[in-house]
Amino acid sequence: MPIEPPVVSPATIADAYAALAGGTPDAPVRPIAGGTDLMVTLAGDLGDPPARIVDLWGLEALRGIVVDGTALSLGALTTFTEIRHSALCREHLPVLVEAAASIGAAQIQNRGTLGGNIANASPAGDTLPVLLAVDARFVLGSVRGEREVPAKAFWTGYRRTAMAPDELVLKIVIPLLQDRRASFRKVGTRRAQSISKVVMAVAWRSDAIDGSGPWHDVRVALGSVAPTPIRASRTEAVLEGAAPTADVADAAADALAGELVPIDDVRSTAGYRRLAAARILHRCIREAGGW
Ligand SMILES: Cc1cc2nc3c(=O)[nH]c(=O)nc-3n(C[C@H](O)[C@H](O)[C@H](O)COP(=O)(O)OP(=O)(O)OC[C@H]3O[C@@H](n4cnc5c(N)ncnc54)[C@H](O)[C@@H]3O)c2cc1C
Repeated sequence: MPIEPPVVSPATIADAYAALAGGTPDAPVRPIAGGTDLMVTLAGDLGDPPARIVDLWGLEALRGIVVDGTALSLGALTTFTEIRHSALCREHLPVLVEAAASIGAAQIQNRGTLGGNIANASPAGDTLPVLLAVDARFVLGSVRGEREVPAKAFWTGYRRTAMAPDELVLKIVIPLLQDRRASFRKVGTRRAQSISKVVMAVAWRSDAIDGSGPWHDVRVALGSVAPTPIRASRTEAVLEGAAPTADVADAAADALAGELVPIDDVRSTAGYRRLAAARILHRCIREAGGW
């Protein structure tokens, strides 16, 4: 097995599909976008490198950010820098801009893509809780055609996804809701170049202009606390229909600390993760309630 596999650079999506369909379990073919995750694996220390790589970078069809009817749609090759600079993202989904700004540092943001973050399926991927919290849908494509998978059904296990080996993430579609508010928090060792110990996105609907009214359709999504990004359903139930008061914040933080079952690993202890998650949820509710 060569250390540097041959690279195919398709001119069209159809060519990319055909190249990916040529993979087998013994000779897997993998797509590469920005390469910020995949390149790290090519030395072979983390398992066998793929037999062949399909370079997506030249596929313009996988780029672009548009607001299309009632949804924000981002091509899979959208970089974190593009998200940070996008007027549409800033206007319609500032929580994704915050998540993009928290990733790595400028070099990684210039090259790392949203599609790569999703497909890499690390439980510490910083955009993944945001995508879960805002009910994103992923459009996948292959020689068999296109299909849509909701974020909540996409990450099926530790670094496993609902994608077939020859499928590509084509775009990410996020429904836009007038009355939705959302918040993002990341806890790492430093402000930059830091993989999350805990990362959280909270989304809710509220018609009170000052943010003090009851929350509905609450989503509390977390990364780095389980083998996949997760929703904290018991905590969501505590918040559903409740206004962001001090009592509600205390109850929700307690519920979250009771609900999470994180692990000890090189980045953090389970106890710290549980405590930090509860504190950042409490702060999110406090800020939303303006107290
Ligand atoms: C120094 C450093 C710091 C980092 N910091 C962070 C951080 O703070 N937060 C964070 O979340 N991540 C971080 N990362 C990880 C990485 O930058 C992100 O996960 C990034 O989004 C990966 O995107 P990419 O385009 O580079 O993916 P690639 O490396 O090109 O691909 C990653 C995986 O996704 C697959 N893939 C890529 N695009 C597609 C597609 N369109 N369809 C199907 N499969 C696809 C590839 O086959 C591969 O398995 C860091 C990485 C480095 C090296």
